[in-house]
Amino acid sequence: MIHHLKVPKVMAQDAIERARRLGILDSNFSIQNDAEYVLIPLVEGAAHDAGYPTVNVPGRPAQKKYQPQGTHGAFDVIGHIAITKIRNRERAVSLARALIDANRSITTVYLDTGIQGEYRIRNLELLAGTDNPVAVYRENGVIMTLDVRKVYFSPRLATERMLVSKDVSDGEEILDMFSGIGPFSMNIARWHNCTVHAIDSNPDAIFYMERSMMMNRLSGKIIPHNADVEKAISGMNKFHRIIMNLPHDAFRYLGIALDHLNSGGILHYYEILDVASLEGRMEEFRSRSLELLLKRVVHGYSSRESMYALWLRKT
Ligand code: SAM
Repeated sequence: MIHHLKVPKVMAQDAIERARRLGILDSNFSIQNDAEYVLIPLVEGAAHDAGYPTVNVPGRPAQKKYQPQGTHGAFDVIGHIAITKIRNRERAVSLARALIDANRSITTVYLDTGIQGEYRIRNLELLAGTDNPVAVYRENGVIMTLDVRKVYFSPRLATERMLVSKDVSDGEEILDMFSGIGPFSMNIARWHNCTVHAIDSNPDAIFYMERSMMMNRLSGKIIPHNADVEKAISGMNKFHRIIMNLPHDAFRYLGIALDHLNSGGILHYYEILDVASLEGRMEEFRSRSLELLLKRVVHGYSSRESMYALWLRKT
């Protein structure tokens, strides 16, 4: 038996989004419905957080997306698009075809042969399906649209974005320094009445951010800036919180970020590091009066390096 929220159908969408946001929706089970009510499966122990009456009924196992054997983690899925970095082309093509055959929702599979340039854009070759690079993607109750050939986007940060959003309070002034299409900004402004300045130098990123803003009911405000961060930031005041998601180059911009962070403000800093250089960074942060609040590996990058999330408070 699984605890489910019992929600009148008209309230269901909001309740599902809220459960997702709170991290209490159990995705191992399907959402069930009858004529009047929707039953939303909850993770164990979550019932008291739920905000609606709960019922204890058998869970209906969710249908998982089919993944060809041995390919777990080999494909990123963004809407109808799957992207892989599998180097053996023959193997990549046959897996791409298998993926399309088994998943009605995936109609395009690209091979990622590398990320390039200031805009961090992927070089993509079509492996199977139709060549349609514009996706609609959902995470944490937020809808976004993007062209995977023109902008940077990684679904692997969805959990990190949810954790950052949960840490925000209403009324904050926030800076998203390398926003891309604005997934951090959107995850925050969707749920919090705050103002987020989102800066990116790629005009396509700003175009898709503005389209995505129109697709969501935002509680807060996002102000997009299409500019180089050093130019855009010079006329800005200080912020309660700054997000720096430029994992290969963030350190170069640490100084200007700190100049614009309130005392007591929070910095969400992302960098690809090996264990030895992580120690060096910690020293650097201490010397700049930054207190470490949280350190976690977001994902592996190479045999020695990982992408780290470092949450820091300016003391
Ligand atoms: N935060 C986004 C996300 O989670 O999808 C995107 C991060 S992506 C790794 C880095 C972004 O920084 C790219 O969209 C790129 O165009 C932008 N960028 C790189 N250098 C920049 C600069 N000097 N000023 C403004 N934006 C910059």
